[in-house]
Amino acid sequence: MEIVFGRVDDSIVRFTLGGASEAYANALRRAMIGEVPTLAIEDVRIYDNTSVLFDEMLAHRIGMIPIKTDLARFVRREACKCEGAGCPHCQVTFTLTMEGPGVATSGDFVSEDPETTPVDTNIPLVKLWEDQKLVIEAVAYLNTGTEHAKWQATIACGYKQYPVIEVTDQCDGCGMCVDECPRNVLEVKGQTVRVVDGKADACSLCKLCEKACIGTGIGEESAIHVNADKTKYLFTVESDGSLPAQQIVEEGIRYIRKRSDELIESLQEISMEGQ
Ligand code: SF4
Ligand code: SF4
Ligand SMILES: [Zn+2]
Repeated sequence: MEIVFGRVDDSIVRFTLGGASEAYANALRRAMIGEVPTLAIEDVRIYDNTSVLFDEMLAHRIGMIPIKTDLARFVRREACKCEGAGCPHCQVTFTLTMEGPGVATSGDFVSEDPETTPVDTNIPLVKLWEDQKLVIEAVAYLNTGTEHAKWQATIACGYKQYPVIEVTDQCDGCGMCVDECPRNVLEVKGQTVRVVDGKADACSLCKLCEKACIGTGIGEESAIHVNADKTKYLFTVESDGSLPAQQIVEEGIRYIRKRSDELIESLQEISMEGQ
């Protein structure tokens, strides 16, 4: 199995997964969406709320604020030495006190941990009119997307099969397929058509080029063939900002490896018992 990164920055990564089955590619996608832990606000204590939003709606909005997460510093509450009592290793408390007029935003929360803050300070929570007031305490914990979408570190996470485009000797370079391609993947070079350098990844496997070629009257067999490589996948992973996108990939792979090891151990125990 091989991973080759194309684009890498904090918010998005694109990579090719090679030598893998479709089952593995889908398991990795699901692991990145649902099994990579991140911080999100779970407990909200509202001491005062005279805004137009009722408490539950306000709490829901607060819970959806992405929070910068350093996974090296936090553990889940249930795995923490404090045994769920709450300590700096498993929770971060935020406070917000504000009086209108003005818009209360994620940036108005004051964190007890200066490194653990909302990813974006401009997420609007509620507009306060004159004399309207908010006094809120909110506590963030580590959890995963399988528990609730607010703990999902990815905004977009998906893959497509890697396209393989082949052109036969029948091609006369008429260019009909080039005009038909919605992704500008093809070009005519001399008397034949070819893939534009670096554009193969953009192919959506729509096969409109094959139809266009048949439409030229070439016969029953198109001179261009587009198929999916069954062992190679193009992934796009976009982070909500709580974790760097590359770390989401690493954590997803780590999760699959851990579960695989557990499965192997269980199978070994079963086979030992049977002897
Ligand atoms: S399959 Fe679609 S996107 Fe790919 S080269 Fe053909 S027309 Fe273009
Ligand atoms: S439509 Fe067919 S013959 Fe014409 S350039 Fe494309 S592949 Fe070649
Ligand atoms: Zn703790």
